[in-house]
Amino acid sequence: MRKLYGVLGDPIAHSLSPVMHTAAFASLGMDALYLPFRVSREQLGDAIRGAASLGFGGLNLTIPLKEAALQYVEADQLAKQIGAVNTVAFTTGGPAGYNTDGRGSLQVLREVAGDLAGTTVLILGAGGAAKAIAFSLDAAGASVTIADRTRARAEELAHRLTNAVAIGLGSELATKLAAADILINATSVGMHPRVDETLVTAELMRPDLVVFDIVYNPLETKLLQEARRAGVKTCITGVKMLVYQGAASFKIWTSQEPPIAVMERAVLDALRHTG
Ligand code: NAP
Repeated sequence: MRKLYGVLGDPIAHSLSPVMHTAAFASLGMDALYLPFRVSREQLGDAIRGAASLGFGGLNLTIPLKEAALQYVEADQLAKQIGAVNTVAFTTGGPAGYNTDGRGSLQVLREVAGDLAGTTVLILGAGGAAKAIAFSLDAAGASVTIADRTRARAEELAHRLTNAVAIGLGSELATKLAAADILINATSVGMHPRVDETLVTAELMRPDLVVFDIVYNPLETKLLQEARRAGVKTCITGVKMLVYQGAASFKIWTSQEPPIAVMERAVLDALRHTG
């Protein structure tokens, strides 16, 4: 029988998860349907219970539901630490929650930087995505600096990690960046429609710095343009992380090896079509 999957959030119309997972299921010949559902925070408990009753194969959760989901699912340790769930699987013991954003970002970084233990990473932002990335990098043995315009938020996150410091977005940024191997933008700065904005410009970058912008709309953000201007050799767009976090969800639900290339092509086609 056809299996149902979905992504819950509000707003939800622009989510790329439906095209990505639909392409994955089709390429593996699986009889499955993946749909977007507009669900408010107040409706989340009913929506998860309803999906369980209807025999759904799994759910993704996006803004503004990731934190609230912890009340309705049995979350694994990483999701609990991060304080957010983006993947729900329906097990015989009830709905189980995971956070695959951090795993997705680690996979991207390991592809270009190998073992992350001992690397020095500067993360811009202390929001939901930054938390997932920071906890995963911390667990992988990286040394992390959290830089947020709301310094108290950066401090709160850094205190919960084993090897991290917090800074604001002032002059300390240049000093920390000079010592970093990897720069990650995990803020929404540079995202459509404010495409001319960046928190770091070329003058602060060196060619051997790895620059990873998790924003994927536009693909080539202002930060990545600045990185190229500085001669940075390794620039990473947000698409790979989007695909890898989706692939990790897919594997949790189906235990099948996700067709990464198919998923990436579907996302890039959709971005070209809409962007
Ligand atoms: P969020 O929880 O709302 O956090 C937003 C972050 O951006 C906060 O750190 C916020 O700083 C910072 N910020 C916003 N506007 C700023 C500005 N003008 N100047 C400086 N800092 C600013 O959002 P999120 O869920 O973490 O998502 C962040 C971005 O990542 C979004 O663009 C999202 O699309 C993208 N994302 C990509 C992936 C992927 O797979 N590629 C996955 C998740 C998210 P304050 O703390 O001061 O408010």
